[in-house]
Amino acid sequence: MTDHVLVVEDEETYRDSLKFIFEREGFTVTLAATGRQGVEAFERGGADIILLDLMLPEMSGTEVFRAIRAQSQVPIIMVTARDDQIDKIIGLELGADDYVTKPYSGRELVARVRNVLRRSETFPADMPDEPSRLTVAGFTLDPERLTVSVGGKAQSLPPKEFSLLYLLASNAGRVLTRQVIIDRVWGADYFGDTKTLDVHIKRLRGRIEPEPGTPRYVQTVRGVGYTFEP
Ligand code: CA
Repeated sequence: MTDHVLVVEDEETYRDSLKFIFEREGFTVTLAATGRQGVEAFERGGADIILLDLMLPEMSGTEVFRAIRAQSQVPIIMVTARDDQIDKIIGLELGADDYVTKPYSGRELVARVRNVLRRSETFPADMPDEPSRLTVAGFTLDPERLTVSVGGKAQSLPPKEFSLLYLLASNAGRVLTRQVIIDRVWGADYFGDTKTLDVHIKRLRGRIEPEPGTPRYVQTVRGVGYTFEP
């Protein structure tokens, strides 16, 4: 699985060089030239980490930071042109995960991004190689029989719905991005359009939620993905 970095940067030369650097290191890169485009790109496709320039037209880096934080704990590294104490304080007060000053070396930036990703607890999803029985929030999942039991009543699930529930339940309380879920549950088998995941979520809710219309367990995190609320 490749990590997806979203670069929000108004200067074309920086954008191009970041794309080159991160793609060479095996990352998937999305570029946004304005703050608004950055927020839209995140809401559309998510990201594992964001490199956010502080000085942006239309919508400042600070506003972009707040807009994204309002909906997600995705790691954000602030980038600024000046080695300015004030910028640094702004970045730290906002709660950025790290702070980088231009000009930076590509090697250093990649190392910082990897560090922050390693530290980040929110996004990595664990799917054991040999899944075992799992009990969470009163649900017991049996991977050998593809069943889920709640209150002593067992029902079998179609394999993809079982994998989806197992992935979400074994990461209960953590937000998983759409891309992470698709990679782990479907991998290279994901031929559907982007709605395939939502269709499976809907079916799964129909089976396990007391009120599928207002889900108690499988919750949508708008613009990011899904989480299992234990
Ligand atoms: Ca700028």
